[in-house]
Amino acid sequence: MMAQKLVVIGAGMASGRVLEHLTEAAPDAFDITLFNAKPRGNYNRIMFGPVLAGDKSYDRIVTHDDAWYEAHDITCRFGAPVTRIDRAAKRVIAGGQATPYDKLVIATGLAPFIIPVAGRDLSGVVSFRNLDDVERMQAAAAPARRSWARRAPRRYCWRTAPSIPPICW
Ligand SMILES: Cc1cc2nc3c(=O)[nH]c(=O)nc-3n(C[C@H](O)[C@H](O)[C@H](O)COP(=O)(O)OP(=O)(O)OC[C@H]3O[C@@H](n4cnc5c(N)ncnc54)[C@H](O)[C@@H]3O)c2cc1C
Repeated sequence: MMAQKLVVIGAGMASGRVLEHLTEAAPDAFDITLFNAKPRGNYNRIMFGPVLAGDKSYDRIVTHDDAWYEAHDITCRFGAPVTRIDRAAKRVIAGGQATPYDKLVIATGLAPFIIPVAGRDLSGVVSFRNLDDVERMQAAAAPARRSWARRAPRRYCWRTAPSIPPICW
């Protein structure tokens, strides 16, 4: 039997689980193309806290790396947001290119919501949803990072100014 064309939109945590299950249960059933708006594959968002704190690198929270997609014969179109689904012709459009499907999975997650209070548009107000957000927060904190010092395992110090003694915990 010919493999069916499966298009998956969104390389997040939900579609990651779907792909793990499908490639294990029916490895030859689908010819899979995976689209992601961001230029990367599936990673564990739940671990953003430790990444933000600098305790883990992004590489350590990647769930599926390039080798995994290659081993499972998944065609990756990362950094290619799907802008249209043509249900009549059974194809999706990304970057002006059409990709046909027999089956379609839409797993695009959610858009972060920032409460409508004064100041929400200020440049330092960032949602905590994707790696770009984490990198923006790290960049914003970078000047202050110079005054952070890790002294011993699990001991952190915060110094607000050279003349003020550090607070440690
Ligand atoms: C900091 C943090 C901590 C969390 N902690 C927990 C926790 O402890 N426990 C828990 O259960 N949940 C937690 N969550 C929530 C959990 O991460 C989400 O519920 C989960 O990621 C949702 O999975 P998803 O696949 O639906 O969406 P996502 O993981 O958001 O993936 C959606 C993907 O779709 C892509 N996409 C969107 N639009 C398009 C498009 N047009 N074309 C192509 N791609 C598109 C996006 O780029 C994204 O990669 C946490 C989330 C965050 C941010």
